Amino acid sequence: MMGPSHALSGAAVWLTGSWAMAQFADYHQTPLALAVGTAVCAGGALFPDLDLSGKVTRNQGGATVARTFGVVSLFVAEVVEKISLGVYYATKLSKDPRRNNGHRTLTHTIPFTVLVGWGTTALCAHYGKWAVVGILFFMIGLALRGLFDKWAERAGWVVVTLVSAAAAWFTFANLPGDRGYPMIGLAVGVGCFVHILGDMITRAGVPILWPIPIKRRMWTMIGLPNKIALRTGSKAETVVLRTAMTILSVLAAVGLVAPSVLQRFDIQV
Ligand SMILES: [Zn+2]
Repeated sequence: MMGPSHALSGAAVWLTGSWAMAQFADYHQTPLALAVGTAVCAGGALFPDLDLSGKVTRNQGGATVARTFGVVSLFVAEVVEKISLGVYYATKLSKDPRRNNGHRTLTHTIPFTVLVGWGTTALCAHYGKWAVVGILFFMIGLALRGLFDKWAERAGWVVVTLVSAAAAWFTFANLPGDRGYPMIGLAVGVGCFVHILGDMITRAGVPILWPIPIKRRMWTMIGLPNKIALRTGSKAETVVLRTAMTILSVLAAVGLVAPSVLQRFDIQV
């Protein structure tokens, strides 16, 4: 799947989940908390593709996510890709094929998802608002890249970086202090997981079972069979899937925000 579809799926899942929590578990969030969770989950849904590096020196190639903060994030992507490839070789069994690129390996596994979610939660618990502002800056940047890809492309990474910094600062200034913010860790983890599911419906598949060895393979790629798999960048993805996810997000957002708006104007339904 392409970057924008991943980001959109993260936003759709978070909004729908929040709506379900409000509806069935009576768990309500403030509009700011909702916006933060949605942005972080959309950004998290791009995070695993930080293993798709391009040509750093020539400033080209790489996944949507690798381009977010210009050369800095391209460099990070290069490092993540090499580490992933290292882990691949360190854990590979005799039937696992040789490879020369780490894309769709370590960062597309359940242990990685859990680690990122837990790490984010630990950072927020330990450093409070200061961790939150850093994580938000990073995740909002990714979300902007994904959700407003055409705009981000035109604006360039400097503008994307400035807008993320401003949004992170605004949130920082308005968030209640002295808390752990566990929802941010959850949103990052859920985002990563949604990304893996998104890649599973494409042909190449992902090593979702790692590190469970199957038939002398540690990195079994699991995905839909070729016949029904989604082709990356096809109409089914860019039109059908994205429209469906946009509608879902809008419906969930309206369902979440409408009751409090109606209440404010004292309108009974
Ligand atoms: Zn991916």
